[in-house]
Amino acid sequence: MPELPEVETTRRGIAPHLIGQRVQRVVVRNARLRWPIPEDLDVRLSGQQIVSVERRAKYLLIGAEVGTLISHLGMSGSLRMVAADTPVAKHDHVDIELESGLVLRYTDPRRFGAMLWSTESPLQHKLLQKLGPEPLLDDFSINHLYECSRGRSMPIKPFIMDNAVVVGVGNIYASEALFAAGIDPRREAGSVSKARYAKLTAEIKRILAAAIEQGGTTLRDFVGGDGKPGYFQQKLFVYGRTGQPCLSCGSELRDVKLGQRASVYCAKCQR
Ligand SMILES: [Zn+2]
Repeated sequence: MPELPEVETTRRGIAPHLIGQRVQRVVVRNARLRWPIPEDLDVRLSGQQIVSVERRAKYLLIGAEVGTLISHLGMSGSLRMVAADTPVAKHDHVDIELESGLVLRYTDPRRFGAMLWSTESPLQHKLLQKLGPEPLLDDFSINHLYECSRGRSMPIKPFIMDNAVVVGVGNIYASEALFAAGIDPRREAGSVSKARYAKLTAEIKRILAAAIEQGGTTLRDFVGGDGKPGYFQQKLFVYGRTGQPCLSCGSELRDVKLGQRASVYCAKCQR
C-alpha cells in the first residue's frame, strides 16, 4: 500500500511535469474506483492550466485555475508521466493528456483509489476536513500528541495510526517509531508520559523524513520507467520480523493484534 512517503515522492515526481501545463483531454477508461470518477471530469479539466500539485495526508491535490482534482492511490494505485504513445495496459484507468505531449496516467489494479473533483477549497472536502496535522509540520508537536492522548484508553499504536490524531503514520512507521522510542505498542495511550511522547514525536518525524529522502532517489522513474517507487528499502527493526531476533538486544520479537493490525515488538526493549 502506498504510504505517506511514497505519496510525497509521487508528488515531487509528477509536479514539475504538470505545473504550468494546459490539459488537452482527460480519458477515463474505467470510472469505477472507490467512488465513481465524475462523468464530467474531461469537461471540467480540459483547457485549464495546472497551477499546483500539493499533498494533504495521502491525498494528492492537483490544482487547476478553477477546481482541484483530489486523488488517492488506495491500496495499489500509482500516478506516473508517460509519453502519449505509450501503450495502455489493463489497469490504466485514467489519462490526463497535457500540451507537452506527456500524459499523467493513473493505474490501479485493485481500484480502491480515488479521483474526485472539488470546486471549493479541497481542504474543506468531507474526506479532508477532519484530518489531523501533517507529521512533518510543526503543528504535529509533543504537546499536540500528549494533549490528544489524555483520557484515551486505547493502545498507543492504533492511537498514533488514527488520522484524526496525526496523518500518514501507517503500520510500518508506527511499529518502527514505537520501537525506536522504546514504547510497548500495547500501552494505554492516556498513560504514557509527556517525556515519552516527546521521544515518540521525534522518532515519527525522523523515520518519515528518512523514508521521503530515500524516495528522492526514485524520482527519475516518474517519466519513462514503471513509475512505481514501491516500498522504500529502509532498514526495518521490527515490522515484518516476528520470531526473528531483536536487532538491539537479541530477544525474539513477538506480535500482537492491535486495532486489527499485526504489531511486532520487542518485549525487552519496549516498555
Ligand atoms: Zn530488544
